Amino acid sequence: MAILTVEDIIEATGGELLSEDSKTFSGVSIDSRKISEGEVFFAIRGDKFDGHDFLTNALVKGSGAIVGIRPESLPAGKVIICVNDTLRSLQDLAHFLRMRRKIPVVAVTGSNGKTTTKEMIYQILSGKYRTLKNEGNLNNHIGLPLSLTRLHPDDEVVVLEMGMNASGEIRRLCEIAVPSHGVITNIGSAHVGMLGSYEAVRAAKLEILEGLSVAVVNADNDFLMQGLERTKDFEGEMITFAVNNEAHVMARDVRATKTGSDFLLEIKGNGGATVNLKVHGLFNVYNALAASAVTFSLGMSIDEIRAALGAYSGFPMRFEVIEKNGITVINDSYNANPSSVEKSVKELVRLGSGGRVVAVLGDMRELDEFSEKEHRAIGRMISETGVDVFVAVGEMMNMAAEESASEKSGAAAPEVFTYIDADSAKDNIMAILRPGDTVLVKGSRSMTMEKIIEGITDAV
Ligand code: ADP
Repeated sequence: MAILTVEDIIEATGGELLSEDSKTFSGVSIDSRKISEGEVFFAIRGDKFDGHDFLTNALVKGSGAIVGIRPESLPAGKVIICVNDTLRSLQDLAHFLRMRRKIPVVAVTGSNGKTTTKEMIYQILSGKYRTLKNEGNLNNHIGLPLSLTRLHPDDEVVVLEMGMNASGEIRRLCEIAVPSHGVITNIGSAHVGMLGSYEAVRAAKLEILEGLSVAVVNADNDFLMQGLERTKDFEGEMITFAVNNEAHVMARDVRATKTGSDFLLEIKGNGGATVNLKVHGLFNVYNALAASAVTFSLGMSIDEIRAALGAYSGFPMRFEVIEKNGITVINDSYNANPSSVEKSVKELVRLGSGGRVVAVLGDMRELDEFSEKEHRAIGRMISETGVDVFVAVGEMMNMAAEESASEKSGAAAPEVFTYIDADSAKDNIMAILRPGDTVLVKGSRSMTMEKIIEGITDAV
């Protein structure tokens, strides 16, 4: 952890020092419950809570605080800095610390695969360089600056995932982090409800291009590539990756194995190597290609990339395969949107061949007026791909269930079970499943589909 000084904070935020102490801090916290000795607390106002209400608690361990409201009395021995806007100040501090270092910053965005691609990039780069990444998915206007405040003087490269659900958000995250390298994994319909159109989703993702030296993009994603053709003013280097189309970085001879995928990684003009990925799904081959492309441009060799990708073992709740009581459970409960559901269901069918294939799907959120159309399309896809049992959880997935069973879908309709929420599905799931089944559990974060996983794995 870097040492932060009061002077740094004042310079970065323009804040007013209310106490006399000149201290150093071991880090930054925004959570009074988790703050460590020696850290400085930023009192952030969120939708539900106001950090100022927890100031006294935070200062039990914390050495100081950045506040927007002057406290009535100043706590002894603690540093208090008053600013206009505490969130803005956290972002300003993150930007200040980033600009002090002339090191590459890789930003990863896209509708799907951000966390996985970020983790793969980290896995590769950290073999050679001291690398900072954002933990988990601390990828928004609060989590990203918080991650950057951990920048250590010895860090040589940073990799950050950037999430968004409104236009202008990626631009703002780029203003804070000033990335040199950007990766766009793909563009699908995630968050289309909030942005209003698929084109608006694309434009919001393409905000990342502004100011990049190197952009890494998915050449198999037509919608993304068409958007890029219209972005004529990008002056950096564009590196493409693909499985099907010609690209700078390609995967050839992709073969699904029992434990993941094997493929020949080819980097145009620089040879190739066979990669043995230990995570399932063609989508993870794409994530690996994106990670290969950007890390190669940062000086990693093909052999280093091959070895690091082979050692990547996945991330919890992202297509995690678990065996229990003769049932193969795929825990993909972290999140869902139309394109990730389609890709996961296809992989489920491939993995489950031989036994019954069971899709347990929860509602996909944030689609608003596109919701019914997108859920019904999932219903048709379920029967077309040959899923045997469809357990639909939530009001919108119940519509998908109706569609999967309708004659319009053409194919053999799956056996359908519908539940209104994860709790009721959890109570009934073991009556549906039997040994030999392969089961995918997936839904939007707020559907808490992991409860159903517990219903399966806790059963004796
Ligand atoms: P994000 O950070 O963008 O939400 P994650 O890496 O956390 O993405 O992956 C979440 C889920 O999205 C995975 O479990 C998988 O179902 C799906 N997914 C991952 N990568 C891709 C991809 N490249 N294309 C489509 N779906 C993907």
